[in-house]
Amino acid sequence: MNLTKRIINSIRDVPDFPKPGILFKDITPLLQDVQLSADITEAIAEYWKGYELDAVVGIESRGFIWGNALAQKLHIPFVPVRKKGKLPAETHSFAYDLEYGSAEVEMHKDAMIKGARVLIHDDLLATGGTALAAAELVKMAGGKVVGFSFLVELSFLHGRDALHKWCDKIHSLVTY
Ligand code: AMP
Repeated sequence: MNLTKRIINSIRDVPDFPKPGILFKDITPLLQDVQLSADITEAIAEYWKGYELDAVVGIESRGFIWGNALAQKLHIPFVPVRKKGKLPAETHSFAYDLEYGSAEVEMHKDAMIKGARVLIHDDLLATGGTALAAAELVKMAGGKVVGFSFLVELSFLHGRDALHKWCDKIHSLVTY
């Protein structure tokens, strides 16, 4: 069975979480399958290995799971983007609108070298708002967004269109 099929078979759909009308794609069962989890890291690393990346930026919290594994595989630093108030040192922050309400994410000011070529990683691309906020933080820190990486893309929400303003290298292992 190919990797895409194995991922689709493992993802658990949870209806009406965290609120009515949302079909939540739960990736935690993938973590129970050690070989599948390793194969996911390998496949993402294989895709991005030629892009001369200097850092992987992972978005709290599920973006940390394969984001750090990927950074280790590529032998480059991992940079966490966290929700407001979680990072202890000086931060850049960026506020953005959600479907209901707003959110704010932060990155340490000294998280990357100026001009760093950065890959932004998260588990899932929906509307793209979260990944866009991470891209703004990379810019504030002096880095350059080279690409976006996701396990899962919900194409009917057109997040990809929003991300094209930053770059056209957007890779997802599974698209719904
Ligand atoms: P967005 O900013 O709309 O692209 O939403 C992406 C962020 O929200 C990611 O960090 C995802 O983990 C989470 N997310 C949004 N929709 C879903 C969903 N249907 N299932 C699982 N996670 C989701």
